This record gives sequence, C-alpha cells and structure tokens, in this order.
Amino acid sequence: MTHFSTKQIAGVYHRRVGNYLVTALSDGYLDMGYDIFREFAPHEVDLMMQRDHRISPPRISINCFLLRGPSGTILVDCGSQDSFGPTAGKLFENLAAAGVDRAEVDYILLTHCHPDHSNGLTDVKTGQRLFPNATIILNRKEFDHWFSDEEMAKADERKRERYFRWTRQQIGPYRETHLRVADDGEEVLAQITMVECAGHTPGHSTWFIHSAGEQMVIWGDLAHVSEIQAARPEVSMSFDHDPEMAARNRTALLARICDENILVAGMHIHFPGFGWLVREDKAYRIATEQWQFEI
Ligand SMILES: [Zn+2]
Repeated sequence: MTHFSTKQIAGVYHRRVGNYLVTALSDGYLDMGYDIFREFAPHEVDLMMQRDHRISPPRISINCFLLRGPSGTILVDCGSQDSFGPTAGKLFENLAAAGVDRAEVDYILLTHCHPDHSNGLTDVKTGQRLFPNATIILNRKEFDHWFSDEEMAKADERKRERYFRWTRQQIGPYRETHLRVADDGEEVLAQITMVECAGHTPGHSTWFIHSAGEQMVIWGDLAHVSEIQAARPEVSMSFDHDPEMAARNRTALLARICDENILVAGMHIHFPGFGWLVREDKAYRIATEQWQFEI
C-alpha cells in the first residue's frame, strides 16, 4: 500500500465565465489557529466546522485566479512564495503545470497587500520582478496606506515587517513603470471592475467580471473561513485592519452577491474555490460549485 505517490495532482482547474477562461491555481494551504477569529470562541468554531466535516481549527486554501480573454493574461493575486513554509508557495509550479510562463502575464490584479496575496511578485534576493511583463493594478487607498511612512510608524513591529516592509519590497520594483492604481467602481480592463470592500485592509477590493451575460466576483478575503463568515458575517478576523468596517462591508456585499446570484471565486475557499451563496437562516452558506467536466 505504500508504493503510490502521496502528492496530489496539479492544483489547476479551469472554468469559463463569458469570454474569459478562468483558471484556479493553488498556492497551497495554511493551518490556522483559533486566535484568527475576533471574539469567537473555540467551541463555536469547532461546532460550525465539524458540522460540515471540516478541519478545526480551520485549514484554509490559498488560491489565485488566472483570467485569459479580451484583455490578455491576467493573474488575480500571486501567492506567498516562501513566506509561509512548506504547505504554501505552490503558485509557480501550478502555473507551469497549466502551461503558462510568468512572462506571459500582462496584468496582476491585487485584492490587497498581505503576504499570502502579494508576496509572489518579486525575488527579494535579486530585486527582480518575477512577472517581467506584468503591470500591477490595485486600489489607490491600498497603495497609499502601505507606502505611507506615517502609517508605518503607527504600526507594531510585526506589522511593520510583515505588511509594510514586505509590501514595499514586493511592489517596489514595479512602482515606477509597471503599476497602476484604481478607484472604487473603475472598469480597469475590459469587463473587469474593481469594487472596494475595505476593512480587512484599508483598500481591500474585489474584482467583478461581467462578460457575455455572466457574472463572477473574485472576492479576495471577504471571508477567510466561509463556513463561518457566510453564516455569521459579523465575525471578523484578529488581523483585520478595521474589524467593524470589515463586518459591515462584508454583510452588504454578501447580500448583493446572493441577491444578484453572482458566482463567487474565493482566495481561501477550499480549492478550486468556486461557489454560490445560498440563503440560510438569517444569513448564507456557500454551496461549492460542482466539478465541471468540460471547459
Ligand atoms: Zn488572505
């Protein structure tokens, strides 16, 4: 029984949304502690996770999404490289497994600047851009915050290192020539609109794809643990920049996504990360999308 590989096949999954081919690419996973939740007791976490046969405290996926269509090749978030140890940092091998060279990527849309989303931009040893032809697009507020020396001085040392310095190292080499900032509601590329949903970070944003009558939202960290936060949108994370704002904006956007029946792609929903919001009790649950056999 031991002569089989314990390694799963490549973390690559394709789906079509209108004129875009959307490819979920796994960057791996992270095991979290109970302390990621703000004011939510471990026994409540266990109860909600175990009800769904999930690992508790939660094990969460890290997903990136590649879009290929009218505006070229677009990567939404770019993984964590070597910042989280052996279970993460798999984006590049999965991108290669999908047959895509990093040099082919035209744009990188960032949901926000946290190391599990934006630490795959630059080789910090050489200062080289890992996506030599890509232009980063991110929320102006997000850029302004992490590049503000005044904000950096207010943060504790851990945040100064892991959020401010790392963001500057990662985005720095793109800043002069390969960076565009965008504002809430802006259609940044054909059929792709940035919709701000701040709180988790000051400019945390989601990306809406409207194409040929279909709609999808790539929701970033709108929920880290959707088994809990779809049902209890008021539960925020200990590392949210503004937990009350995060909860308020999450509650509003979840309602819109459900009301408009929009397909969800989530960075921390179990790979491949696609699903639909279904009303349940006073809130929602995520119905993960069934496997599609043909693209
Ligand atoms: Zn995240």
